[in-house]
Amino acid sequence: MLNRLEEQAPDALLALIKLFTADERADKIDLGVGVYKTADGATPVFEAIKGAEQRLVDTQDSKSYLGPEGDLGFVNGLIPHIFGDAASDDGRMDGMQTPGGTGAVRLALALAQKGGVTRVLMGTPSWPNHAQILGDLSLELVAFDHANSDGTANMDGLRSALANAGEGDAILLHGCCHNPTGVDYTPAEWDEIAALLKDSPVIPIIDLAYQGLGQGMDEDAYGLRTVMAAVPEVMVAYSCDKNFGMYRDRVGAFYVQTADAETTSRAISNASALARASWSMPPDHGGAAIRIILEDAGLTQRWLDELTSMRERIGEVRSTLAASGTAGSVDLTPLGKQRGMFAMLPVSKEQVQQLRKDHAVYMAGSGRINVAGLTLGNIDAFVAALTDVTG
Ligand code: PMP
Repeated sequence: MLNRLEEQAPDALLALIKLFTADERADKIDLGVGVYKTADGATPVFEAIKGAEQRLVDTQDSKSYLGPEGDLGFVNGLIPHIFGDAASDDGRMDGMQTPGGTGAVRLALALAQKGGVTRVLMGTPSWPNHAQILGDLSLELVAFDHANSDGTANMDGLRSALANAGEGDAILLHGCCHNPTGVDYTPAEWDEIAALLKDSPVIPIIDLAYQGLGQGMDEDAYGLRTVMAAVPEVMVAYSCDKNFGMYRDRVGAFYVQTADAETTSRAISNASALARASWSMPPDHGGAAIRIILEDAGLTQRWLDELTSMRERIGEVRSTLAASGTAGSVDLTPLGKQRGMFAMLPVSKEQVQQLRKDHAVYMAGSGRINVAGLTLGNIDAFVAALTDVTG
């Protein structure tokens, strides 16, 4: 039976990690996998997390089951940070813990499907797993171009996708730090998106996986908060894996807002049933550690300070790259106005391979780079390599 299965392509970025590790050149540069790195190339555990984990070890008295909704102290503790003043306390919004942002995206899409959604509008390119999850759920992807070649968002693409959509459609939007392009909607563009959605039966699903890594916690939530204020039904997939550095601990949350408390309660009961049938309950450790941070003003401040230094470093690398102007045929100036860890460079697959072979620069075959893989010490070498390969 199982011998009928066809081999699947391995995850390209995970394969790239292996190649990078095996490369013995001392000046190698890893711009592949999407994790934050310090100026020393490390991805350390946050100090705030270390403090909270210590407290968790000292005080946790049981590992008995929670439930499909996970740690509600964690879920509710995040609410003021994500939703700010937009958080309503009238029961119209509720949430549950998920295994990472991936679990939250999966849950949002599965719940939308259960509610009657058959097609999902999405700007492309997008995080590859979005299309993979849609395919796995047999939801139809209606793609439009996310970005223009000058590094701005393609609003015409989004406008016409929404104009041609109707009942039974959802739209999946990146809240901030678009992966892979780095091209975010401006506040004015979010205002327009919220107004368009207000007059449309299309239900928005907002994936917020990098809050705090773009311009700030509030700035990065502007779109989400604006859409939630304009539209009664919204789903949110949230990841803590980047902004708390929890990657392998798989920490995320799903939130839903509907027109009334009774519908929200039914939505959560359906989401719980879906969770129960797939992962049953989310892993506890990471969410519990983050709950401890959010319950303690000192640890919360430490976390926010650590997040600020990550954001500032990303910004510094971006502005240094942008100041380089052009590298061969690649215009680096748009990187200065883009946000988050990612950018797409207009390079061919052959140029990506040549960068790896001749210059030990590792990036995804699509031309996506993780700017956090660069330091002020190796940007010049990277720009020179890019000039050599594309010049
Ligand atoms: N959405 C986007 C846009 C992402 O880039 C990622 C992570 N690469 C996720 C969701 C999922 O993150 P997690 O690791 O928390 O599952």
